[in-house]
Formats: sequence, C-alpha cells, structure tokens
Amino acid sequence: MRAFTYERAASVEAAAKAVASNTEAKFIAGGTNLLDLMKLQVETPTHLVDVNGLGLDEIQSTPEGGLRIGALVRNTDLAANQVVRRDYGLLARALLAGASGQLRNKATTAGNLLQRTRCPYFYDTNQPCNKRQPGSGCSAIGGISRQLAVVGASDACIATHPGDMAIAMRALDAVVETVKPDGSRNAIPIANFHRLPGDEPQFDTVLERGEFITSVVLPAPIGGKHIYRKVRDRASYAFALVSVGAVIQPDGTGRVAVGGIAPRPWRVEAAEALLPKGARATAAALLADARPTEQNRYKVDLVERTIGAVITEARG
Ligand SMILES: Cc1cc2nc3c(=O)[nH]c(=O)nc-3n(C[C@H](O)[C@H](O)[C@H](O)COP(=O)(O)OP(=O)(O)OC[C@H]3O[C@@H](n4cnc5c(N)ncnc54)[C@H](O)[C@@H]3O)c2cc1C
Ligand code: SF4
Repeated sequence: MRAFTYERAASVEAAAKAVASNTEAKFIAGGTNLLDLMKLQVETPTHLVDVNGLGLDEIQSTPEGGLRIGALVRNTDLAANQVVRRDYGLLARALLAGASGQLRNKATTAGNLLQRTRCPYFYDTNQPCNKRQPGSGCSAIGGISRQLAVVGASDACIATHPGDMAIAMRALDAVVETVKPDGSRNAIPIANFHRLPGDEPQFDTVLERGEFITSVVLPAPIGGKHIYRKVRDRASYAFALVSVGAVIQPDGTGRVAVGGIAPRPWRVEAAEALLPKGARATAAALLADARPTEQNRYKVDLVERTIGAVITEARG
C-alpha cells in the first residue's frame, strides 16, 4: 500500500476543503471499499480525511413526511430502522441483500452509493482499464464480460454499478444532499447522481472534487408492496448479476429499478407504465437500447424473468 497521511475532519466544511485543495486526498468513511482498493493500488490517495467523527449518523423525519438519512448511518442500522422497515421495505431488503453482516456494520450510506465497480480488470493493475487509468483502453471489451453491463455502457467502459442499496434509492426517488468546498449546499436527485461512462468512465458520479455527501433524503412513503430480488452466483456474499427493486401497487402499476446491468441503477419511467401488461413488455422497454456481449446476453432474459417473478410475488 502506498504511504498516506491522515487527518480527522473537524467539520463538514473543513472536510470538503481538505479534499478539494489536494488532488491526492480522499474522504474515508467505513473504509470497506476504499481500503481494499488502496491495498491493490487501484486507488492511491496520499492523504485520507476521516469523516467518521462528524456525527451525520441520525435518521430523522422530514417536514414533508419523508426521511433524512445521515451520510454516516451504517447499513446495518438503516436496514434495522423501524420506519425504514415499515415504510421503505425495499430499502431494508436491498441493504440486507448486500455484502455481509460485518461489512454492513461498517459500511455507510454515502460510501455505499460511491462504491466502485467490480469489473475484474478494474482491480487488476496489470491490465488496461479506462476507469482506473483514463486512455489506457478497456480490457473487458473483447475480454471477460459475463458480469458487465448490457445497457448504458460506452465504447470506453462497460462496467456496472455493483451496489444494491442504490437500486432501492433509485426506485424510491431519493435525493443526495451535499456540501461543496465553497460551503454551498446542493441536492442531487438520485436519477442524476451516477453518470453514464461516455468517454470519461473515470467519473462515476456528478460530484465535484471535494463535494461531501451529508445525507440522503427519501420522499414521503408511497405504499405498495416492496420487493427486492437479487440473482447472483452464490446465495450470499456476492454481487448481483441482475437485481430488481420494485414497489408494486394493488392495481398492478408501480416502479421498478434494475441493478447489475448498467453503469447506474437502471430505471426507465416509460417502461414502468407497462408493468400491468407484464414482464415481457416492461423488460423490452427497459432494455430497448441494450447492447449485450456474447457473454452477458443471458442478462436480457434474466431481467425479464426476474421482473416476472417480482410481479408474481406482488400478486401474492
Ligand atoms: C467482500 C465484499 C462484498 C460486498 N458485497 C456487496 C454487495 O453484495 N452489495 C453491495 O451493495 N455492496 C457490497 N459490498 C460493498 C460495500 O457495500 C461497500 O464497500 C460499502 O458500502 C462502502 O461504504 P464505506 O462507508 O465503507 O465506504 P468507504 O470505503 O469509506 O468509501 C467509499 C468511497 O466513498 C467516498 N466517501 C465516503 N463517504 C463520503 C461522503 N460522505 N461524501 C463523499 N464521499 C464519501 C470515499 O472517499 C470513497 O471514495 C461489498 C464489499 C466487500 C468488501
Ligand atoms: S469495463 Fe470499465 S472498469 Fe472494466 S476494464 Fe473496461 S474501462 Fe475498466
């Protein structure tokens, strides 16, 4: 691991300034993703700004009837929160489908949103990878792509967003609240938070350098049946090949966001309108722009089948 210096941030504003003023600095929260990447020298910050002492670990009601989740709320605590379990069951289920108990005890809400791809070439510093080293090439195109994106990718990168929690956040229309290094506040709808790779796959999100996530806000509950179905190679402790997060209303309408298939949580509102017509129509509209590889073509069928299973489960 490359040597680094370390400081504990005294305030949100100081943390944002510290990272903005040093191109080699990074925030560290639970460290469950960043430290792994540092050990492999995929990420090589020379300075870490520890944000764990900043509070930001509360879950509070908003005046609009929603929920404000502090950036440092641990995944375990968020999944166990009584209001989350009652009104945002999709979020609790998605969290519990991710990682392991030990990891969830450390992993934070902000860090989870910002976890980096699990493309195998991103982790292998002997291989070209545009996301790790811009301009070096993409080893996955023409290489091993079984786990990678079928939609939303580019000629520069076909990696997926690997997380579970963000899929639920997308279906629930969460908003990410931040503080910028100049002290101004920003609110980013989750739909705009993760970027498509285009020709700059090194940027996963729209956050500016030093922009610090303070909380994530959920709008008022929308009722319905909350279902998260994750298809993976092992029954636990594995990332999604395909996951479907859905809120289905009694009349068969609803929301659906899909994970494991795109560089960001994949939700197409026009496709949702087809939910009452069934899984085939919905999946076809969701994946209208799909460009699968030979190795990951199976995901196109898997999305349809997983949405079908979710619709069946919702009907009881
Ligand atoms: C073996 C293993 C299996 C896993 N399986 C799954 C899985 O099945 N599903 C799943 O969803 N996840 C899985 N994960 C990923 C895990 O969920 C993430 O590592 C975790 O959520 C990251 O949170 P953290 O607080 O530890 O982030 P950190 O590692 O501390 O930080 C991650 C990134 O976020 C930045 N950051 C942190 N806080 C802030 C902030 N407030 N503002 C701005 N930037 C910030 C950091 O600078 C860093 O770039 C797995 C991880 C491991 C190691
Ligand atoms: S898909 Fe993206 S992360 Fe994977 S090798 Fe290509 S550029 Fe790197």
